[in-house]
Amino acid sequence: MTSMPTLFISHGGPNIVLDDTPARTFLKKLPELLPAKPKAIVVASAHFETDGVAVVTDPDPTTIHDFGGFAPELYKMVYPAKGDPLLAQAVVERLETAGLDPHTYEKRGFDHGTWTPLLLAFPDAGIPVVQVSIDPRRDAAWHYAIGEAVSDLRREGILLIGSGHITHNLRAFFTVFRHGALVDPVLAGKVDAFTNWFADRLAAGDRDAVMNWKQRAPFPAENHPTDEHLMPIFFAYGAAGEAAKAERVHASKQMGFFAFDSYLFH
Ligand code: ZN
Repeated sequence: MTSMPTLFISHGGPNIVLDDTPARTFLKKLPELLPAKPKAIVVASAHFETDGVAVVTDPDPTTIHDFGGFAPELYKMVYPAKGDPLLAQAVVERLETAGLDPHTYEKRGFDHGTWTPLLLAFPDAGIPVVQVSIDPRRDAAWHYAIGEAVSDLRREGILLIGSGHITHNLRAFFTVFRHGALVDPVLAGKVDAFTNWFADRLAAGDRDAVMNWKQRAPFPAENHPTDEHLMPIFFAYGAAGEAAKAERVHASKQMGFFAFDSYLFH
């Protein structure tokens, strides 16, 4: 069986499923980037934060509307994909073997970091989905190790996705959203510096720089006042294996400072 690449996607707000944007168009075409239809999907979402790593074993997850102030129709949407308890168990075993001490959630629905991109990419919801958490108190290397531990699942046709955001300065976002303030041109430059640095270092295979992004990348705090939305990229990077090559498969920005870069690792 052809080995699946892994993916990091910038998932946007839940309105991504409604608004006609380049990021939405990209997600709708996502299956074209894959060698085959995935047998199952494992998602590490920035909106599933736990102390340590957790795996959802729920066979029939609900859809969580974990957001406020968006269009009413978004609160009625569901993503009816099934869970996959056997795959979840396989993930747990690999994390245990790697000494990562996972725990499990028997009941937990899909957060919007999981269901909104999947609704666009796989609208028939016919592929089972297992969710893995992130821990924002842990660093890049820890999330990389989680991906690395489950990397062999790619060879079984399973798609491993990290769902977060390449930049995530929500304070600036809500300032514009609420007050109509103009985009700060200084911030836009800092966003470009950060996303271009990531693209450049990933393309160069400079794992050392990428893993030490907080010390090495320009303007880390401006782009990630908190770390949780960047952690899924390290899951995807680790899951792709040591020889992984990164391909920036999407880059767009909204409001000048909210960047939607997505990467395929193969
Ligand atoms: Zn998010």
